Amino acid sequence: MTKERVIIIGSGIAGCTAALRLMQDYDVTIITKGHKEQSNSMLAQGGVAAAISKSDTPKKHFSDTFQAGCFHNKVRAVNQLVTCGPIVIQKLINEGMTFDEKDGELSLGLEGAHQLPRILHSGGDQTGKFLTTFLQEKLTKVNWQEQKMAIEIIKHDGRAIGVHCLDKENQLHTYYGEHIILASGGLGQLFPVTTNAATISGDGLALAYRADATLSDMEFIQFHPTLLFLNGRCHGLISEAVRGEGATLIRADGSAIMETVHPLADLAPRDVVAATLFEEIERGNQVFLDITKVAHFEKRFPAITTSLDEHQVPFRETKRIPVHPGAHFLMGGVRTDLNGKTNIPHLYAIGEVANTGVHGANRLASNSLLETLVFGEKVAEYIHTQKNNRIIAPENPPTYQTTMPHLPEKHILQEKIWETLGITRKPEKITEFLHWLETFDYANHTRETAEISHMIITSKLIAESALKRTESLGAHRILKGVTK
Ligand SMILES: Cc1cc2nc3c(=O)[nH]c(=O)nc-3n(C[C@H](O)[C@H](O)[C@H](O)COP(=O)(O)OP(=O)(O)OC[C@H]3O[C@@H](n4cnc5c(N)ncnc54)[C@H](O)[C@@H]3O)c2cc1C
Repeated sequence: MTKERVIIIGSGIAGCTAALRLMQDYDVTIITKGHKEQSNSMLAQGGVAAAISKSDTPKKHFSDTFQAGCFHNKVRAVNQLVTCGPIVIQKLINEGMTFDEKDGELSLGLEGAHQLPRILHSGGDQTGKFLTTFLQEKLTKVNWQEQKMAIEIIKHDGRAIGVHCLDKENQLHTYYGEHIILASGGLGQLFPVTTNAATISGDGLALAYRADATLSDMEFIQFHPTLLFLNGRCHGLISEAVRGEGATLIRADGSAIMETVHPLADLAPRDVVAATLFEEIERGNQVFLDITKVAHFEKRFPAITTSLDEHQVPFRETKRIPVHPGAHFLMGGVRTDLNGKTNIPHLYAIGEVANTGVHGANRLASNSLLETLVFGEKVAEYIHTQKNNRIIAPENPPTYQTTMPHLPEKHILQEKIWETLGITRKPEKITEFLHWLETFDYANHTRETAEISHMIITSKLIAESALKRTESLGAHRILKGVTK
């Protein structure tokens, strides 16, 4: 008997985890916009948070996750994350995944707002790369479709049945499946200053919205405080783990920035640190990470060292790294239950594209890789319980528009989004921005127009959510508002 088909959109850790757990029993296809290595997962530096040390408990991890999320998190989702976390990590270790060790024990790092060290890392600061590669090498039974950009989720009788995609030459390809899993990541590339991979521009969120899926908490976007900043441009992330190892944020005159701002100083929650740095920069101050106190910096952070050398940063002499905050992570997204199910039958969402409720109004550092692993497992477990899902695929041409659409240039849209929906937000500017967005068309006959159209839809969803939340909370900061 032929197997049922699962179509997964996205080749990050969420998509690869689900694929690994499904490929024996299903005909699994992974569609991905660029090469399979292009994802935020590949870029993750700090590691994966899990309560595995003897002095740690899921309860402590739960408490830290809730505090960071400003108590906006969903209790059951956080419970699932922190209790299944150690189990999925152990399963990966049993299957051959290696995390860094010290004196024969797993070496656990400390990051902002964690009450004790619980961050597993691999290859020093290359956890995402090592984990993604480990998973992808195991995907021997998967049909890979690289360089295919999903442009529409196909529905029939109210259920998801397939995906329309464009290849690099803008030729249409259609894939049908009994189960469609969105694992397309977040939206960092909506902003001109971001840590995110080039393919991560909110496509999946717009696709879900157009398929009538419910999205929520879209106003909660985490801005990472420390992107490498040179000559007015950002060049990737300087992990929070660097501050965990003793680096401090300073002004050009050497004065400490965070000491007087928060009891946790440099390891305060990310929204606090990012907003403080943003205010410093707005006042005309340059900000730096002072790495004087970081022991064995180059050994502990080999990938960051390579990046600093590539950009000719004289950090060995100055002990300083110039930094700037930028868009990093979306807490909200496509609303799902604990199994990754959306409100559209047979459409699932996992990883950063999903809003499971684990992150609340702000994500605790290193909880997102854990979320991709836990919910990647859960969606596969759930699909295994579903029987007789066969679809008879109707011919279903895409609803795309091929006339000359009126769309903004990408960089202009990004600048507007940063000004309006960046670290601090003004309601009147958001209203103005929404009016501006209304002047544009929707088009997806080329990858370029589809990407810009998706960015318009996604930024509209953020703007509408931001307008509805009239008080600052977590990562959503109304100008000069105070985090609750
Ligand atoms: C620089 C950086 C460092 C980070 N460090 C950490 C860390 O240390 N710990 C931690 O927990 N989290 C970290 N994060 C966050 C974490 O990496 C991500 O949240 C997580 O990897 C998301 O995984 P994912 O599988 O959901 O999505 P991704 O890994 O982003 O994968 C999404 C995939 O979908 C594809 N895609 C997108 N649109 C389409 C489309 N239209 N059609 C087809 N394919 C599409 C993309 O190309 C990509 O392959 C970091 C993020 C960044 C950017």
